[in-house]
Amino acid sequence: MSQLGTEERPLRVAIVGSGPSAFYSAQALFKAELVIDINMFEKLPVPFGLVRFGVAPDHAKIKNVTQVYEKTAQEPRFSFFGNVEIGKDFTIHQLRKYHDAVIFAYGASSDRKLGIVGEGLNGSHTATEFVAWYNGHPDYKDRAFDLSGETAVIIGQGNVALDVARILCKTVDELKSSDIAAHALEALSKSNIKNVHVIGRRGPAQAAFTPVEIREFGELAECSPIVDPAELNLNEASQQELEDSKNAPKKKNFEILKGLVEKRDDGKPRKCYFHFRKSPAAIYDKVGDGRIDRIYIEQNELFGEAGSQMSRGTGEKETLECSILFRSVGYRGIGIEGLLFDDRVGIIPNHQGRVGDSEHVSTGLYTAGWIKRGPTGIIGTNKPDAEETVAKLLEDIDVLIPGKNPSNDMLIEHLKELNISFVTFADWKLIDAEEIKRGEAVGKPREKFIDTQEMLDFIKSAKAKV
Ligand code: NAP
Repeated sequence: MSQLGTEERPLRVAIVGSGPSAFYSAQALFKAELVIDINMFEKLPVPFGLVRFGVAPDHAKIKNVTQVYEKTAQEPRFSFFGNVEIGKDFTIHQLRKYHDAVIFAYGASSDRKLGIVGEGLNGSHTATEFVAWYNGHPDYKDRAFDLSGETAVIIGQGNVALDVARILCKTVDELKSSDIAAHALEALSKSNIKNVHVIGRRGPAQAAFTPVEIREFGELAECSPIVDPAELNLNEASQQELEDSKNAPKKKNFEILKGLVEKRDDGKPRKCYFHFRKSPAAIYDKVGDGRIDRIYIEQNELFGEAGSQMSRGTGEKETLECSILFRSVGYRGIGIEGLLFDDRVGIIPNHQGRVGDSEHVSTGLYTAGWIKRGPTGIIGTNKPDAEETVAKLLEDIDVLIPGKNPSNDMLIEHLKELNISFVTFADWKLIDAEEIKRGEAVGKPREKFIDTQEMLDFIKSAKAKV
C-alpha cells in the first residue's frame, strides 16, 4: 500500500467536534507537508461549538474568530458532516473504517456539581443551561427561566458567571442589537430581576474572571456594581500573590474592583453585588413549594501558601432570599461510547493528546481542547493545545492502522444507508446567509435558527430552489 500522506494515499483524519480546538486541529494538519483529507463531524447541523453557543451575544468581536475557521473549511480537502453524533448515530468503530486517525475535540458540554442540599430545586439552574438558552442552542430552546422575582444569585466568579450576570443586568436596549436568541430577548424584556449576587468562594485576588470582563460592570446603562470595600482587605499571602508578575491580570482585576467601589452609589435601578470569601452552604425552599426561595451562605477564610490558597468555612452564616440561582462552577466533559474516559475529572485520558492511560494506548485516537485538558483557558489557548496533539499524530504516522475504506464516497453511502441527514459546509452557508438576512430585518448581526428540524427543512427547500 502507498504511504499515508501522499497523493496516492492521503492521510485521512476525522475530527469530532467543530469548535475552536477542532478547527485549530484542522488548521495544524493542513500546515503539515503531507496530503491530508479532513472530515469534521458535529452533532448539531451548525459549526463552531462554543463560539456560537458559549460566547456571550454582546461580545460580538470574539466571534470574529470564525472567519479564520471559515478559511480552513474552504480548503479543498476539508469536509463537514453536521448533524452526525459520533457514539450515537455513527460509532467510533464505524468512523475508524473510513479514517486512519480520529481527533476528539468535542469540548465539555456538561457542568460540575456543587454537592449541596437543594441543588436540584426548581429555580436552581446551571449557568451552562442559561448560556446555551440565550445563545439559541437547539437542545435548550425550551428551557424556562423564571425571572419574575427580584433577586438572582450566581455561584462562582469565572467569566461564565460574569457573562450570566451581565445578561441579567443589561437592558433590552443594550442587548437587542446582539445575536441573542429572540426567545431570550423576549423573556429578558419582561425580567423583574433587580439584584444579582455573584458569589466567590475565595478572595478578590483569586477571582477567576479576567480584567476586560469585570471592567464592563462599571459601564452598564442601568446597573450599579456593588463591591464592599471591607471585602477587598487582603491577607498577607494574597498581597504576595498580587506582587508576583505572573499574576498581572489578577492585580488588574483587584485595581478594577477598587475602582468599582466608587460606583456603588450610582443609584441605577439594578445592582450587581460581588461577594468574596463566601460559599453556598445550602439552597432552600422554605415555603415548601419545591422552588428555591433562599440560600444559606457561609463566610470563608483563606488558608495555605501564596499561589495555592484554598477556602474553608468559618461557621458564620447568612441568609440571602432569592428566586433564581445559577451554578457557574465550571463546565465538565462527558464520555463517548467506546472511548476511554476519566469520569473523575471529565476528560479523555491522554498523553499530550494521544488517547491512553497508564494501562491502555489507543493507537490512532487523539484528543484536543477542553475534552483533553479540562474546561480552562480562552479560545486562543486551544491553538497551541491542538498543535501539540497534531504533532503527536504526525509523529505516529508510521504506526497508524490505515482505515479499511479510505473513501468519502463509501462513507457518504454508509451515512445514507443509516438515514443520517448530514449537513455539509455548503449547507451551513445557506443557513448562515438566511440567519444574517433575518437578522438584518431586526437590526441584529443574525437571527439564529434554534430548531434542528427547521434548519434541515430550510436547507432542503433552499437547495430545491437552486
Ligand atoms: P472557571 O473560570 O473555572 O471559574 C469557575 C468558578 O467557580 C471559580 O470562581 C471557582 O472558584 C468557582 N468554583 C468552583 N467550584 C466551586 C464550588 N464548589 N463552590 C463555589 N465556587 C466554586 O470556569 P468558567 O467561568 O465556567 O469558564 C470556563 C473557561 O472559559 C475559563 O477559562 C474562562 O476564562 C473561559 N471563558 C472566557 C470568556 C471570555 O474570555 N470572555 C467567557 C466565558 C468563559 P475557585 O477559583 O476558588 O476554584
